[in-house]
Amino acid sequence: MQPYRNLIGGEWVGTSGVMNINPSDTGDVVGEFARATEADTLDAIAAARAAFPAWSSTTPATRGTILRSASTLLMARREELGTQLSREEGKTLAEGIGEVTRAAQIFDFFAAETQRLAGESLASVRPGIEVTVTREPLGVVGIITPWNFPMAIPAWKIAPALCHGNAVVFKPAELVPASAWSLVSVLQESGLPAGVLNFVNGPGSVVGNTLVNDPRVDGISFTGSVATGQRIVVAAASRFGKVQLEMGGKNPLVVLDDADLDIAVDCAVNGAYFSTGQRCTASSRLIVTRGIHDRFVDALIRRLEQLTVGHALHEGTEVGPVVNDSQLASNLTYIDVGKAEGAHLAFGGEVLERLTPGYFMVPALFTGATNDMRIAREEIFGPVACVIEARDFEEALHLANDTEYGLASGICTTSLKMASVYRQKAQAGMVMVNLPTAGVDFHVPFGGRKRSSYGPREQGRAAAEFYTSIKTAYTLP
Ligand code: NAP
Repeated sequence: MQPYRNLIGGEWVGTSGVMNINPSDTGDVVGEFARATEADTLDAIAAARAAFPAWSSTTPATRGTILRSASTLLMARREELGTQLSREEGKTLAEGIGEVTRAAQIFDFFAAETQRLAGESLASVRPGIEVTVTREPLGVVGIITPWNFPMAIPAWKIAPALCHGNAVVFKPAELVPASAWSLVSVLQESGLPAGVLNFVNGPGSVVGNTLVNDPRVDGISFTGSVATGQRIVVAAASRFGKVQLEMGGKNPLVVLDDADLDIAVDCAVNGAYFSTGQRCTASSRLIVTRGIHDRFVDALIRRLEQLTVGHALHEGTEVGPVVNDSQLASNLTYIDVGKAEGAHLAFGGEVLERLTPGYFMVPALFTGATNDMRIAREEIFGPVACVIEARDFEEALHLANDTEYGLASGICTTSLKMASVYRQKAQAGMVMVNLPTAGVDFHVPFGGRKRSSYGPREQGRAAAEFYTSIKTAYTLP
């Protein structure tokens, strides 16, 4: 089997490396991926720097054509690439195809956005002087991504970076390089000039660390854990690099007495368990008011009993495997932690043996949890949720906001008034009413508050804040 290689300065380089394993069937090797070194990363940064002047001088229309072509290719290959994604990460096939489709939509959006790159002309306070405010590309951007959305997250960073004229060095999570490699190949096929997008697949401690500390990298856009984000912001900011961080969540879904029970259960199942709960926006805290608590818990357990857990590519699977053995072990540890803290394990939480050897567990639900327990405060990043009972709306709102995170926050209610108050008072970057916390559009700002995010928002037109630098010019004609 030929290893998939890294892309540096338009050349595919590298030899033997790391095996990528299917979490639904550990006997299935997705591919072998060349492992980039520190020297490769330095070469990739040099290639990006060399490519930047010409690329940033191309017309927006030229960049738009390349981005649109990438979108078309991704759409045409979405079943094949969606299958690859599900095979390497463990999302169901529908979720995998959905993620590739979303990547295609993102490239299409930013292709159109190239046509809108405009500045402002303002009146000066001094007579006869013209003031213009324009945006210029940042320069070379280092993009570091996690394993849970191996195509959509790289797409929502790479597309705006290229749209705004930046050159990129892209480091995917070493656990899931196949989707990232395919995305880079599609962009090459779309006509991207050599060196504009460089791909270096290797360990975060080597490749990521080199990118973060190199003064030739003007900005770092990172998505991943708080611990890594904290390390990155300290290192990059100390050399005055621009930083954008998207990190974890402990997202609440509030269910009020007047909620539509079916909608509330659907929101909880989707938000807490789909994508195996491995989403930064997962609804891992279900805060339920007293009057509906027992009915909600009963209905949710009935739904969990029917949930189909299995091989990501098998028809009918609703929840695939956990991504790897260490994530599975971590989830199981949290099951023990929850029990030891005094929460009641009302459903699941055990390893599920399958025909194929894989990392399967039965989605878990704790009841009787309190907001000070570790299972209610720490991001578990697996199919584990806890129910916290609240006296009334005020207490539910207080509990929802009582967290170090602030990514997404949801409420299920039929009261317009309660929905409106919640929208205003929720301390989160994204609020969902009668919808799962985990469903977001591709063309609007994405991000959070507190320890969930740092720096400008991602996605949509807001992405320009990170990928450009503003220039204010004064002219006396
Ligand atoms: P992670 O362990 O922090 O890794 C994220 C990326 O950082 C990987 O590519 C990793 O490389 C790299 N990295 C590790 N150490 C580094 C270092 N010292 N310097 C530079 N880069 C380094 O996170 P993960 O486990 O992949 O992802 C799960 C986390 O991502 C969860 O906390 C989740 O909530 C968060 N997430 C947030 C969002 C959001 O938009 N807010 C979206 C998705 C996921 P290697 O792993 O290859 O070594």
